[in-house]
Order: sequence, then C-alpha cells, then structure tokens
Amino acid sequence: MEKSTSKFIRSFMDYVKARDPFQKEFHQAVHEVVESIAPFLLNNPNYNQSKILERIIEPERIVQFRVPWTNDKGVVSVNRGFRVEMNSALGPYKGGLRFHPTVNLSILKFLAFEQVFKNSLTSLPLGGGKGGSDFDPKNKSDNEVMRFCQSFMTELQRHIGPNTDIPAGDIGVGGREIGFLFGQYKRIRNEFTGVLTGKGLEWGGSLIRPEATGYGAVYFAEEMMKRKGESFDGKVVCISGSGNVAQFAAEKVIQFGGKVVTMSDSSGFIHDPDGIDREKLDYVMELKNISRGRIKEYAERYGCIYKVGERPWSVKCDVALPCATENEINQEEATMLLKNGCEVISEGANMPSTPEAVHEFHKGRILYAPGKAANAGGVAVSGLEMSQNSMRINWTREEVDGRLHTIMKSIHEMCVSYGKHNNGWVNYVDGANVAGFVKVAKAMMAQGYV
Ligand code: GLU
Repeated sequence: MEKSTSKFIRSFMDYVKARDPFQKEFHQAVHEVVESIAPFLLNNPNYNQSKILERIIEPERIVQFRVPWTNDKGVVSVNRGFRVEMNSALGPYKGGLRFHPTVNLSILKFLAFEQVFKNSLTSLPLGGGKGGSDFDPKNKSDNEVMRFCQSFMTELQRHIGPNTDIPAGDIGVGGREIGFLFGQYKRIRNEFTGVLTGKGLEWGGSLIRPEATGYGAVYFAEEMMKRKGESFDGKVVCISGSGNVAQFAAEKVIQFGGKVVTMSDSSGFIHDPDGIDREKLDYVMELKNISRGRIKEYAERYGCIYKVGERPWSVKCDVALPCATENEINQEEATMLLKNGCEVISEGANMPSTPEAVHEFHKGRILYAPGKAANAGGVAVSGLEMSQNSMRINWTREEVDGRLHTIMKSIHEMCVSYGKHNNGWVNYVDGANVAGFVKVAKAMMAQGYV
C-alpha cells in the first residue's frame, strides 16, 4: 500500500476513534471499508472535498428508548431499544432488529454501516439501518416475548413506516417476533402496510424470505467456485450457527450435493462426520424453531461428537460457512482452516471474521466472501417482499428464488469487476466495498450536503 494511502487511512481512523472511543465493532467495520476505498477517494478529490466519508459514517438519526415490560410473574424489567437510521441516499432505511444481551450502540452502528453497502449491492432501492434491544429472548415464554415486542413497538412505531424505515429480523428476531411487532404496529397506526419484512406468508410475507440469507450465501459460494471450475458436489462443509441462516445454508448445500458436518450454538458445536442429511436437518429445524432447545441434543440423538464451548473451525473441511455472529473466526482459527485445506469461505453472518482472520484468508489466496456481499440475499428478498406488498400481489417460490439467484450472481460480478487483481485473483472485500460505496456516494453527491 502506498504511503499516502496508509497515512490517509490512519488519520481518518484517528478521527473516528476520537469521536466514539469505545465503539470497537464500529471502528472495525469502518476500517475495513476505508482500507478498500481510500485509493478511490484519493483519485477522486471531489468526494473528499464534500466530506463524503465523514458524512457516510455518521448516522442520519439514532433513536434510543426505554422498553419496560413485565414477566409472567408480574416482575418489571427495563430494556433499551434502539434504531440506527444510517443512510437513506438509495431508499428508505432498511435493516433488521437484533434482540440479544450484547446489543449496544457500537454493535448496531457497525451493523447499520455494513447494511448500507450490502443494500446498495443488491441494486434495489434500499437505504440502510439497524436496530434492536439488549433483551434476551432465551428462556422467555411466548407471552413474555409478546409483551416485550408490544412495548418495543409502542415507541418504535412513531419512527418507522413503509416509506420511511422498514425493519426486519436478525439474531433473536424471527417469525414469532415479527408477528408480535407487526400486530402492535397495526393496532396503534390502524393501517395494514409492509412496514416490516419477514412477515408470515398469510399476512404479507414473501415466499423464500426465511430461506434467502442461507440460500444466498451458498449461491454466492457457488459463483466463486464456478469461476475456478468447481462446485459443491462432494465438498465437506463446516457451518456455524443453527438459526435461520445456518439452517437454510445447510439445506442448499445438501441440495447441491455437499456434505454438512458441523452446526453450532452459543454453548458448543456438533460434528457429524456422516453428514447432516435432510432428515437430521428437519430435526435441527424442529429443535431450534419449535422446541427451542440446544444443539447438544442433536449429538445425544444421533450419537455424534459434541464439543462444549468450542467453535467448529478445527474440523477439516473444503468450505466454511460462518452463519452465527460477528468475530467468530479469529486468526488462529483462520490458520487452522487454511492448514486443513479449506478453500472457500462465504459469510452468512455479519462480520464473522476478525481483521486478522481476513488477513490470513487473503494471504492464503483462497475464495473469501465478506458478509456484506455473501449474506445480502436476506435483505434482497426483503426488498422483494416490499415490492410485492406495494403491488399487493404474491410471487411464486420459483419467481422469488429466481430473482434471488440473479441478484447474488450480479453481486458476485460486481465484486469481480471492482476487486480483480492482474493475476486473476479476486479480493472480494475490496470489490464489495468499492462497488457498494460508489453507488451510495454518487447518490449522496447528487442530493447535496445532506
Ligand atoms: N438482518 C438481515 C441482514 O443482516 C436482514 C435485514 C432485512 O431483511 O432487512 O441483512
């Protein structure tokens, strides 16, 4: 990297850190993007003159609010609710809600920032945002979750709308929560609109939305492999997580002829060398979505290995699909994956690899796709859900899946065109960041200093 470029990055990061010294995850996300786009900015001084970077890292608006609720015993708790409305240059704010005890402003700003570029890559008219709460849905009854969601929406409803800000799910927010949130929005506003995505099929949801993030990450990996004349057929695949993204990534890998050997949750991972087949995956889906149990129960049922408190990256595989959460692959684990022959990483989660891990993947010249490109399928189908809601029609499974596949292929092409080196190797991080950024930056320039 040229001296002037690294100086530019360093001084910009000093500025970011001085403003919000404790927002580590946000710094990490900004640093990754700034590293990719610095050469472009230095070649296009008009962007710098109009302070495009300073503006793009500053949320247009942040709302923080109190969420009081009572548990089944009548005990009152108070959680924090947030919505980060990051950027509306390309469309209304769009991004999920996360309910997890680790949620804070740094995490939500990193997620909202990533979302802006991800949404831009989908080529749909979507701005970027993110929200959530430090509420922990684990071990809560359905009624407790409902009361929490109602309290959360009672405040959030005044800040969102189908043409303003359209939340969806993320960690801890699935079909059940979206239902409770939608019900409360409709009750207060007295309107049935597409204000949330990830809705149930019978009341405005889209086919393929639950599958979209997982399928999309596999479609993206398939595109990367195709460029090298390879496919999923016969490949051993390690997946982390066992939520919505992991489940449907596993489903698509199985359909493509790969063998999924691991899944995990926050307590540990299972290793099934025989492969998680359709029947076993149905069990995982029932375990996680209906009985809401732990992945350990899979090992007890099928008699395979369970490693408590560990992540699956020590298991030998050809392809790794991190579908759990941020920073779940560190440098040591990245080195282990490479040593064991892993050649493809496609991120179903947001920022699951630490910067040191990404550095190892790049050094190893393997096929590595960052989340903002590889997991864009989820929000893309959310965008398609919004279109269907506006037109008041429902597309078929084939129609939506076909559009998802086309969008993932087009994101892959954009990454290749912006990230290809002279020797043919593609830096998908640079590709995704530059392609995502250019569109947002151009729109911001056209819209004046807003
Ligand atoms: N939370 C998902 C993401 O990280 C989906 C957001 C959406 O559908 O709006 O992209």
